[in-house]
Amino acid sequence: MIQFQYERASTAKAAVSALANNAKIIAGGTNLVDLMKRNVMAPAKLIDINSLPLRSIEQQNGKMIIGALALNSQVADDKLVLEKHPLLSKALNAGASAQIRNMATVGGNMMQRTRCSYFYDTALPCNKREPGSGCGALEGVNRMHAIFGTSDKCIAVHPSDMCVALVALDAIVVVSGPKGERRIPFDDFHRLPGSQPEKDNTLQKDELIISVEIPDNTFSKNCHYFKVRDRTSYAFALVSVAAALDLDGKNIKEARLAMGGVAHKPWRLKEAEKALAGKPATEETFRQAAEIAMQGAKAFKHNAFKLKLGPNVIVEALKNAAGLV
Ligand code: SF4
Repeated sequence: MIQFQYERASTAKAAVSALANNAKIIAGGTNLVDLMKRNVMAPAKLIDINSLPLRSIEQQNGKMIIGALALNSQVADDKLVLEKHPLLSKALNAGASAQIRNMATVGGNMMQRTRCSYFYDTALPCNKREPGSGCGALEGVNRMHAIFGTSDKCIAVHPSDMCVALVALDAIVVVSGPKGERRIPFDDFHRLPGSQPEKDNTLQKDELIISVEIPDNTFSKNCHYFKVRDRTSYAFALVSVAAALDLDGKNIKEARLAMGGVAHKPWRLKEAEKALAGKPATEETFRQAAEIAMQGAKAFKHNAFKLKLGPNVIVEALKNAAGLV
Protein backbone atom coordinates (compact mmCIF):
# COMPACT_ATOMS: atom_id res chain seq x y z
CA MET A 1 0.00 0.00 0.00
CA ILE A 2 1.47 3.37 -1.05
CA GLN A 3 0.95 6.19 1.44
CA PHE A 4 0.20 9.54 -0.20
CA GLN A 5 -1.36 12.86 0.66
CA TYR A 6 -4.38 14.17 -1.21
CA GLU A 7 -5.18 17.82 -1.77
CA ARG A 8 -7.93 19.57 -3.75
CA ALA A 9 -6.79 22.72 -5.54
CA SER A 10 -9.37 25.51 -5.83
CA THR A 11 -7.35 27.68 -8.25
CA ALA A 12 -4.71 27.03 -10.93
CA LYS A 13 -2.29 29.15 -8.89
CA ALA A 14 -2.85 26.96 -5.82
CA ALA A 15 -2.28 23.82 -7.93
CA VAL A 16 1.00 25.24 -9.28
CA SER A 17 2.16 26.16 -5.74
CA ALA A 18 1.34 22.67 -4.50
CA LEU A 19 3.36 21.06 -7.31
CA ALA A 20 6.47 20.39 -5.22
CA ASN A 21 7.92 17.50 -3.26
CA ASN A 22 7.03 14.67 -5.64
CA ALA A 23 3.43 15.83 -6.11
CA LYS A 24 1.38 14.81 -9.14
CA ILE A 25 -1.73 16.28 -10.67
CA ILE A 26 -4.77 14.01 -10.80
CA ALA A 27 -7.90 14.62 -12.89
CA GLY A 28 -9.57 11.60 -14.57
CA GLY A 29 -6.96 9.26 -13.07
CA THR A 30 -7.34 6.74 -15.90
CA ASN A 31 -3.58 6.14 -16.18
CA LEU A 32 -2.04 7.47 -12.96
CA VAL A 33 -4.19 5.31 -10.66
CA ASP A 34 -3.20 2.17 -12.61
CA LEU A 35 0.46 3.15 -12.35
CA MET A 36 0.14 3.71 -8.59
CA LYS A 37 -1.65 0.38 -8.09
CA ARG A 38 1.22 -1.36 -9.86
CA ASN A 39 3.95 0.51 -7.95
CA VAL A 40 5.29 2.06 -11.14
CA MET A 41 4.67 5.56 -9.79
CA ALA A 42 4.54 6.52 -6.13
CA PRO A 43 3.79 10.24 -5.76
CA ALA A 44 3.96 11.61 -2.21
CA LYS A 45 1.01 13.88 -2.92
CA LEU A 46 -1.89 14.00 -5.38
CA ILE A 47 -3.33 17.38 -6.30
CA ASP A 48 -6.89 17.00 -7.52
CA ILE A 49 -7.68 19.74 -10.06
CA ASN A 50 -11.20 18.61 -10.97
CA SER A 51 -12.82 21.72 -9.49
CA LEU A 52 -10.80 24.15 -11.65
CA PRO A 53 -12.77 25.93 -14.41
CA LEU A 54 -10.86 24.29 -17.27
CA ARG A 55 -13.58 22.28 -19.05
CA SER A 56 -14.78 24.72 -21.70
CA ILE A 57 -14.42 24.52 -25.48
CA GLU A 58 -14.53 27.96 -27.09
CA GLN A 59 -13.81 29.66 -30.38
CA GLN A 60 -11.98 32.99 -29.98
CA ASN A 61 -9.95 35.19 -32.36
CA GLY A 62 -9.24 32.59 -35.02
CA LYS A 63 -8.54 29.68 -32.70
CA MET A 64 -10.31 27.03 -30.69
CA ILE A 65 -9.41 26.91 -26.99
CA ILE A 66 -9.98 23.57 -25.28
CA GLY A 67 -9.63 23.48 -21.50
CA ALA A 68 -7.24 20.92 -20.04
CA LEU A 69 -10.08 19.31 -18.07
CA ALA A 70 -12.41 18.88 -21.07
CA LEU A 71 -13.25 15.19 -21.25
CA ASN A 72 -12.17 13.15 -24.25
CA SER A 73 -15.81 12.22 -25.02
CA GLN A 74 -16.95 15.84 -24.53
CA VAL A 75 -14.38 17.07 -27.09
CA ALA A 76 -15.10 14.25 -29.55
CA ASP A 77 -18.85 15.02 -29.51
CA ASP A 78 -18.60 18.82 -29.38
CA LYS A 79 -20.48 20.53 -32.24
CA LEU A 80 -17.75 23.12 -32.78
CA VAL A 81 -15.02 20.48 -32.83
CA LEU A 82 -17.00 18.34 -35.29
CA GLU A 83 -17.49 21.34 -37.54
CA LYS A 84 -13.99 22.87 -37.39
CA HIS A 85 -11.62 20.03 -36.46
CA PRO A 86 -13.28 16.67 -37.25
CA LEU A 87 -9.79 15.10 -37.40
CA LEU A 88 -9.53 15.59 -33.62
CA SER A 89 -12.93 14.01 -33.05
CA LYS A 90 -12.04 10.99 -35.21
CA ALA A 91 -8.73 10.47 -33.36
CA LEU A 92 -10.38 10.73 -29.94
CA ASN A 93 -13.05 8.21 -30.87
CA ALA A 94 -10.35 5.78 -32.03
CA GLY A 95 -8.76 5.84 -28.56
CA ALA A 96 -9.49 3.75 -25.45
CA SER A 97 -13.07 2.71 -24.60
CA ALA A 98 -16.25 4.79 -24.19
CA GLN A 99 -15.98 4.47 -20.40
CA ILE A 100 -12.37 5.73 -20.37
CA ARG A 101 -13.17 8.57 -22.80
CA ASN A 102 -15.90 9.66 -20.35
CA MET A 103 -13.33 10.01 -17.55
CA ALA A 104 -10.07 10.96 -19.31
CA THR A 105 -9.23 14.64 -19.79
CA VAL A 106 -7.35 16.40 -22.59
CA GLY A 107 -4.44 17.26 -20.25
CA GLY A 108 -4.32 13.70 -18.91
CA ASN A 109 -4.36 12.25 -22.42
CA MET A 110 -1.24 14.28 -23.19
CA MET A 111 0.46 13.23 -19.94
CA GLN A 112 -0.31 9.49 -20.17
CA ARG A 113 2.72 7.22 -20.00
CA THR A 114 3.87 4.59 -22.46
CA ARG A 115 2.21 1.16 -22.38
CA CYS A 116 5.56 -0.67 -22.84
CA SER A 117 5.04 -3.84 -20.79
CA TYR A 118 8.54 -3.61 -19.27
CA PHE A 119 7.67 -0.16 -17.91
CA TYR A 120 4.69 -1.68 -16.07
CA ASP A 121 6.55 -4.72 -14.68
CA THR A 122 8.63 -3.61 -11.71
CA ALA A 123 10.56 -6.93 -11.72
CA LEU A 124 12.10 -6.08 -15.11
CA PRO A 125 14.63 -3.42 -16.17
CA CYS A 126 13.32 -0.17 -17.62
CA ASN A 127 15.26 3.08 -17.98
CA LYS A 128 12.05 5.08 -18.11
CA ARG A 129 10.78 3.75 -14.75
CA GLU A 130 14.20 3.43 -13.12
CA PRO A 131 16.95 5.39 -14.92
CA GLY A 132 20.12 3.34 -15.41
CA SER A 133 18.44 -0.07 -14.94
CA GLY A 134 18.51 -0.93 -18.67
CA CYS A 135 15.88 -1.34 -21.38
CA GLY A 136 14.13 -4.71 -21.33
CA ALA A 137 12.50 -4.10 -24.70
CA LEU A 138 15.69 -3.51 -26.70
CA GLU A 139 16.56 -7.23 -26.77
CA GLY A 140 13.17 -8.41 -25.53
CA VAL A 141 9.66 -8.43 -26.95
CA ASN A 142 9.39 -5.23 -28.96
CA ARG A 143 6.49 -5.76 -31.35
CA MET A 144 4.65 -2.60 -30.19
CA HIS A 145 7.75 -0.41 -30.10
CA ALA A 146 9.14 2.55 -32.02
CA ILE A 147 10.73 2.71 -35.46
CA PHE A 148 11.57 6.43 -35.42
CA GLY A 149 13.65 8.52 -33.01
CA THR A 150 14.74 5.66 -30.75
CA SER A 151 17.85 5.66 -28.56
CA ASP A 152 19.91 2.90 -27.00
CA LYS A 153 18.17 3.78 -23.72
CA CYS A 154 14.51 3.48 -24.78
CA ILE A 155 12.40 2.43 -27.78
CA ALA A 156 8.94 3.05 -26.30
CA VAL A 157 6.07 4.75 -28.14
CA HIS A 158 3.64 7.42 -26.95
CA PRO A 159 0.22 5.77 -26.74
CA SER A 160 -2.14 8.68 -27.51
CA ASP A 161 -4.37 8.99 -30.59
CA MET A 162 -5.58 12.49 -29.71
CA CYS A 163 -2.01 13.82 -29.69
CA VAL A 164 -1.39 12.57 -33.25
CA ALA A 165 -4.28 14.74 -34.49
CA LEU A 166 -3.20 17.72 -32.36
CA VAL A 167 0.36 17.70 -33.69
CA ALA A 168 -0.99 17.56 -37.26
CA LEU A 169 -3.27 20.52 -36.48
CA ASP A 170 -0.36 22.68 -35.22
CA ALA A 171 -1.90 22.97 -31.76
CA ILE A 172 -0.33 25.04 -28.98
CA VAL A 173 -0.17 23.88 -25.36
CA VAL A 174 -0.73 26.65 -22.80
CA VAL A 175 0.84 25.91 -19.42
CA SER A 176 1.02 27.84 -16.17
CA GLY A 177 3.99 27.90 -13.79
CA PRO A 178 5.45 30.03 -11.00
CA LYS A 179 6.74 32.54 -13.58
CA GLY A 180 3.42 32.82 -15.38
CA GLU A 181 2.09 31.37 -18.63
CA ARG A 182 4.12 29.58 -21.31
CA ARG A 183 3.00 28.51 -24.79
CA ILE A 184 4.53 25.34 -26.27
CA PRO A 185 4.07 24.24 -29.91
CA PHE A 186 2.55 20.77 -29.75
CA ASP A 187 5.46 19.20 -31.64
CA ASP A 188 7.81 20.45 -28.88
CA PHE A 189 5.68 19.21 -25.99
CA HIS A 190 6.54 15.51 -26.15
CA ARG A 191 10.20 14.56 -26.52
CA LEU A 192 12.37 11.78 -27.88
CA PRO A 193 13.99 9.47 -25.30
CA GLY A 194 17.67 10.31 -25.95
CA SER A 195 19.69 9.68 -22.80
CA GLN A 196 16.78 10.65 -20.49
CA PRO A 197 13.82 8.40 -21.32
CA GLU A 198 12.34 9.09 -17.87
CA LYS A 199 11.27 12.48 -19.28
CA ASP A 200 8.24 12.08 -21.53
CA ASN A 201 7.75 15.77 -22.28
CA THR A 202 9.02 19.31 -21.79
CA LEU A 203 6.53 20.29 -19.08
CA GLN A 204 8.44 21.44 -15.99
CA LYS A 205 7.69 19.79 -12.62
CA ASP A 206 6.00 22.95 -11.34
CA GLU A 207 3.88 23.63 -14.44
CA LEU A 208 0.22 22.82 -15.06
CA ILE A 209 -1.46 22.36 -18.47
CA ILE A 210 -4.23 24.96 -18.76
CA SER A 211 -5.50 24.53 -22.32
CA VAL A 212 -4.78 23.48 -25.88
CA GLU A 213 -5.32 25.95 -28.72
CA ILE A 214 -5.97 24.96 -32.32
CA PRO A 215 -5.58 27.70 -34.94
CA ASP A 216 -8.26 27.88 -37.63
CA ASN A 217 -7.40 25.88 -40.73
CA THR A 218 -8.81 24.73 -44.06
CA PHE A 219 -8.65 20.97 -43.44
CA SER A 220 -12.12 20.22 -42.06
CA LYS A 221 -13.56 18.87 -45.35
CA ASN A 222 -10.77 16.43 -46.18
CA CYS A 223 -9.31 14.67 -43.18
CA HIS A 224 -9.08 11.16 -41.81
CA TYR A 225 -7.64 9.29 -38.83
CA PHE A 226 -6.74 5.70 -39.64
CA LYS A 227 -5.66 3.41 -36.80
CA VAL A 228 -4.47 -0.16 -37.25
CA ARG A 229 -4.55 -2.24 -34.06
CA ASP A 230 -4.81 -5.82 -32.90
CA ARG A 231 -8.56 -5.56 -32.20
CA THR A 232 -11.09 -2.97 -33.25
CA SER A 233 -11.69 -1.37 -29.86
CA TYR A 234 -9.78 -0.65 -26.68
CA ALA A 235 -6.34 -1.34 -28.15
CA PHE A 236 -3.31 0.86 -28.74
CA ALA A 237 -2.15 1.62 -32.27
CA LEU A 238 0.30 -0.60 -34.08
CA VAL A 239 0.43 2.28 -36.54
CA SER A 240 -1.98 5.19 -36.89
CA VAL A 241 -2.05 8.17 -39.26
CA ALA A 242 -3.73 11.56 -39.07
CA ALA A 243 -4.09 12.95 -42.59
CA ALA A 244 -5.58 16.29 -43.65
CA LEU A 245 -5.68 17.90 -47.07
CA ASP A 246 -6.62 21.33 -48.37
CA LEU A 247 -7.77 20.58 -51.91
CA ASP A 248 -8.24 22.87 -54.87
CA GLY A 249 -10.29 20.63 -57.12
CA LYS A 250 -8.12 17.56 -57.53
CA ASN A 251 -4.90 19.30 -56.53
CA ILE A 252 -3.38 19.48 -53.06
CA LYS A 253 -2.78 23.02 -51.84
CA GLU A 254 -1.51 21.98 -48.42
CA ALA A 255 -1.25 18.74 -46.43
CA ARG A 256 -0.85 17.68 -42.81
CA LEU A 257 0.37 14.25 -41.83
CA ALA A 258 1.36 12.64 -38.52
CA MET A 259 1.82 9.10 -37.25
CA GLY A 260 1.13 7.34 -33.96
CA GLY A 261 2.50 4.06 -32.59
CA VAL A 262 5.89 4.68 -34.19
CA ALA A 263 7.84 7.00 -31.87
CA HIS A 264 8.28 8.29 -28.31
CA LYS A 265 6.19 11.29 -29.41
CA PRO A 266 3.44 11.90 -31.96
CA TRP A 267 5.45 11.83 -35.19
CA ARG A 268 4.86 14.73 -37.58
CA LEU A 269 5.81 14.03 -41.22
CA LYS A 270 6.80 17.47 -42.52
CA GLU A 271 8.92 16.27 -45.46
CA ALA A 272 6.05 14.14 -46.72
CA GLU A 273 3.69 17.12 -46.32
CA LYS A 274 6.02 19.22 -48.50
CA ALA A 275 6.09 16.46 -51.11
CA LEU A 276 2.26 16.43 -51.24
CA ALA A 277 1.82 20.20 -51.71
CA GLY A 278 1.10 21.20 -55.31
CA LYS A 279 0.57 17.61 -56.52
CA PRO A 280 -2.60 15.91 -57.77
CA ALA A 281 -4.46 13.96 -55.08
CA THR A 282 -3.80 10.49 -56.51
CA GLU A 283 -2.70 7.17 -55.05
CA GLU A 284 0.62 7.56 -56.87
CA THR A 285 1.27 10.93 -55.16
CA PHE A 286 0.31 9.43 -51.79
CA ARG A 287 2.60 6.42 -52.32
CA GLN A 288 5.55 8.74 -53.09
CA ALA A 289 4.85 10.80 -49.96
CA ALA A 290 4.64 7.61 -47.88
CA GLU A 291 8.08 6.53 -49.10
CA ILE A 292 9.49 9.90 -48.02
CA ALA A 293 7.68 9.61 -44.68
CA MET A 294 9.33 6.27 -43.91
CA GLN A 295 12.89 7.44 -44.55
CA GLY A 296 15.05 6.90 -41.47
CA ALA A 297 12.76 4.25 -39.95
CA LYS A 298 14.60 1.48 -38.11
CA ALA A 299 13.02 -1.77 -36.97
CA PHE A 300 13.85 -4.08 -34.06
CA LYS A 301 13.46 -7.86 -33.84
CA HIS A 302 9.66 -8.02 -33.64
CA ASN A 303 8.40 -4.81 -35.21
CA ALA A 304 9.79 -4.94 -38.78
CA PHE A 305 6.17 -5.31 -39.94
CA LYS A 306 5.73 -1.60 -39.14
CA LEU A 307 8.08 -0.73 -42.00
CA LYS A 308 5.57 -2.27 -44.44
CA LEU A 309 2.41 -1.36 -42.53
CA GLY A 310 3.43 2.30 -42.06
CA PRO A 311 3.39 3.39 -45.73
CA ASN A 312 0.19 1.44 -46.41
CA VAL A 313 -1.59 3.17 -43.52
CA ILE A 314 -0.36 6.56 -44.76
CA VAL A 315 -1.70 5.88 -48.27
CA GLU A 316 -5.07 4.64 -46.96
CA ALA A 317 -5.44 7.63 -44.63
CA LEU A 318 -4.67 10.04 -47.48
CA LYS A 319 -7.05 8.25 -49.87
CA ASN A 320 -9.82 8.50 -47.28
CA ALA A 321 -9.02 12.17 -46.64
CA ALA A 322 -9.17 12.89 -50.37
CA GLY A 323 -12.44 10.98 -50.80
CA LEU A 324 -10.85 8.38 -53.10
CA VAL A 325 -12.38 5.43 -51.20
FE1 SF4 B 1 11.51 1.07 -20.47
FE2 SF4 B 1 11.54 2.45 -22.73
FE3 SF4 B 1 12.85 0.20 -22.61
FE4 SF4 B 1 10.20 0.14 -22.50
S1 SF4 B 1 11.41 0.77 -24.22
S2 SF4 B 1 11.65 -1.02 -21.24
S3 SF4 B 1 9.78 2.06 -21.46
S4 SF4 B 1 13.28 2.02 -21.39
